[in-house]
Amino acid sequence: GTTPLYLGIDFGTSGARYALIDRQGAIHSEGKRPYSPVGDAAGWASSWRAALFQLIDDIPPTLRPSISSISIDGTSATTLVVDSETGELLAGPFLYNESFPDALPAVASIAPANHTVCSGTSTLCKLVSWWNAAGGGSAGAAVLMHQSDWLLWLLHGQYGVSDYNNALKVGYDPEAGAYPSWLASQPYAPMLPSVRAPGDPIAAVRDDVCSQYGLSKECVVCTGTTDSIAAFLAARTSEPGRAVTSLGSTLAIKLVSKVRVDDARFGVYSHRLDDAWLVGGASNTGGAVLRQLFTDDQLVALSRSIDPAAASPLDYYPLPRKGERFPVSDPDMAPRLQPRPESDVEYLHGILESIARIEAKGYNLLRELGATAVEEVFTAGGGAQNDKWTAIRERVLGVPVRKAEQTEAAYGAALLALKGAGRRVGVQS
Ligand code: ADP
Repeated sequence: GTTPLYLGIDFGTSGARYALIDRQGAIHSEGKRPYSPVGDAAGWASSWRAALFQLIDDIPPTLRPSISSISIDGTSATTLVVDSETGELLAGPFLYNESFPDALPAVASIAPANHTVCSGTSTLCKLVSWWNAAGGGSAGAAVLMHQSDWLLWLLHGQYGVSDYNNALKVGYDPEAGAYPSWLASQPYAPMLPSVRAPGDPIAAVRDDVCSQYGLSKECVVCTGTTDSIAAFLAARTSEPGRAVTSLGSTLAIKLVSKVRVDDARFGVYSHRLDDAWLVGGASNTGGAVLRQLFTDDQLVALSRSIDPAAASPLDYYPLPRKGERFPVSDPDMAPRLQPRPESDVEYLHGILESIARIEAKGYNLLRELGATAVEEVFTAGGGAQNDKWTAIRERVLGVPVRKAEQTEAAYGAALLALKGAGRRVGVQS
């Protein structure tokens, strides 16, 4: 074909997916591959590399020459240390959820209080832990890469480029557009990548990759983002006041705001989104509780009998276990799912309504913290299928609520590739 296409690849927690779209956003091809890591940490890197090239190989050969650009998202704070002279993996991957509390005292002594790096899972804790144990004197040509930086590097071969979404958890300041001085003055600072906007063109695909997979020599590799930002981007809602609520096992909200808001008490922080901010918060309530009580088929059947126009008087706080962070910060909060009425329809109505109240409280809290007021909510995740719940949420939130058309992170990454395709390599945005 001759229509230019844009490739997005998502490396999520359980597998990799790709989406190939055109300029209008229509999907021409998509697919997925699981990971099957073997052995130690390095086994993860090998399985990601294998999945990356399997996915490219899965794209119909007739479409491959039409790919204008590629972008990749990865799990946030997944970190590798690579030798920039040999390309060899020196350490990691340290996975997104691995914690390095040994580095916390050192990190807390340099970073401002409550900074996002002051968590054992942050990229900076991973870097400092490695530096203290093995790096130090022998670091030499070692460079730090996030998961998506590393996968993109396999395609373009340039060292030291990242994006400001991935770099947030190593301490990059997306507002200043620089590493803060408390970080830039550290002995390991030369390992930090230079940081660009997500979707910025880095370089053309390596010649050997082009010829092996039949890609165009003009195909450009663009900076990536994190998997949760990519999933947000998929909904194509970049105006301030627009939001995406993800109703999966947990309830996560992301709101486009003109104002940056961060509050460690509630686990609220902001990612940069071009000239706006994407403010996020995550509650422990959500679909996991529903799944403890009902099968998905029961959820569908019971929901049919709910009248969403009627407010349920039942006041619950559904949690799968003790503890809440957002919109109420209380590690000891107990789940509240009593009293249980005789009718399961009434019970489910009460639970869905209570989760909707928690969602509304979340958006209100972001507003109180200074974010732009929510005007419209798109929904992702298993809960987005439930039209009765959507109607309940519309009444409780007082703004239009609809299902997001696209919710796959791979689609969001493809939109980043599309964004980068029109730009010249090496010209910063
Ligand atoms: P995750 O990826 O976070 O595990 P999903 O986005 O796949 O979650 O959504 C799964 C959740 O959606 C389950 O916890 C389930 O309770 C919920 N769910 C599935 N069907 C319905 C429905 N009809 N109404 C409300 N919730 C539903």
